[in-house]
Amino acid sequence: MSLVSVSRLLGRGAAPERDCDGCTVCCTVMAVAERNKPGGTRCDAVADAGCGIHPDRPAACRAFHCLWLRGGLADAAHRPDQLGVMFDGFIDRADGETRLVAIELWPGALGAPAVAPLLDALAARHPLHLHYRDGRRSVMSV
Ligand code: SF4
Ligand code: SF4
Repeated sequence: MSLVSVSRLLGRGAAPERDCDGCTVCCTVMAVAERNKPGGTRCDAVADAGCGIHPDRPAACRAFHCLWLRGGLADAAHRPDQLGVMFDGFIDRADGETRLVAIELWPGALGAPAVAPLLDALAARHPLHLHYRDGRRSVMSV
């Protein structure tokens, strides 16, 4: 079985295939202008079971589906809060370029054995931007 679904790599708004089910990683990673929340800070609406204002969450939150949620990673166990890496693929509105990113959630996660084959599989499709927890950035191509 392929590790990644090519048809699901891009298209941030693609319909979710899964349920976040308590993961709130993007509620820290993403900037949400409607809540004056910069990227990298935990949203103050996060509750024990997920978004505490889910029915009324901002449009930006409704529109965001990480690569795992929309079925771009084949393994259900690769949910960001379990893997330590959140993957996303999208068309950058600023320049129309395709972006594929891997955001490290805790130190060392991008170097974990379970993550390596995913990095290889994704970088084989498109240059993969790696965002390390300590602020380092690099681009991986295979
Ligand atoms: S990171 Fe993905 S799985 Fe986790 S809450 Fe956000 S969209 Fe859902
Ligand atoms: S409003 Fe809800 S979905 Fe949006 S970042 Fe905050 S907790 Fe997450």
